[in-house]
Amino acid sequence: MATWKKKFTRFYLPLIAGCGFMCGALYGQWAYQKSKIETYLKVNIEGIISEQERNLNVSFQGRPSFIVTRSINPFNFMFYNAGQDTIEVDMRGFNLFTLPNDDPRMAQLLKSGLSHELGHFYIDKLHEQDYGRDYSPDSVKRKFLGEGMAEHFHVDGKPDHFYDSLHDMVKPFLETNGVSEGIRYVFEHENEISLPENLEKMAQQAQATFK
Ligand SMILES: [Zn+2]
Repeated sequence: MATWKKKFTRFYLPLIAGCGFMCGALYGQWAYQKSKIETYLKVNIEGIISEQERNLNVSFQGRPSFIVTRSINPFNFMFYNAGQDTIEVDMRGFNLFTLPNDDPRMAQLLKSGLSHELGHFYIDKLHEQDYGRDYSPDSVKRKFLGEGMAEHFHVDGKPDHFYDSLHDMVKPFLETNGVSEGIRYVFEHENEISLPENLEKMAQQAQATFK
């Protein structure tokens, strides 16, 4: 056999076959994971919204759309797109290789993240109703206020420490006035609400970087 042929059958062919097999397996895993997440959404979204409506005494206007995708943003595993009224779920957030598909932690992660994103949706709809436009986080301060308010909609799992402090910042407004009126209060008094010192510093630094 010619040397190149030998090389091809002994080295390149198994390599190509191996890569093909890996790609096929990976694609199969992605597809499986995607359908699991889509099924979870179909079965559970209404239950999560009902829980939020009961706990927070709110009423959702309509429903967002959902997209299960592979890559949106390196920092988020879920993201609410106000312009499209869509919640995007990034499968990379679910540790494909370490978290088995039927692991209850996956459902918990989904529920926890979705409840927060549904909060963004609720806030956005309220803003649209009152001001005729999306609630776009166009400053770091507004981003912080928006995250804190969305965190109020959490129905499962413990929010991480950073989100906890954003939540603490707006919680008194939402508790004193009722959730919807509290959110409206934050809309109307954004300039007067002062951030805690550490968050103010962080907001100023981040704002300077993104300008
Ligand atoms: Zn958020």
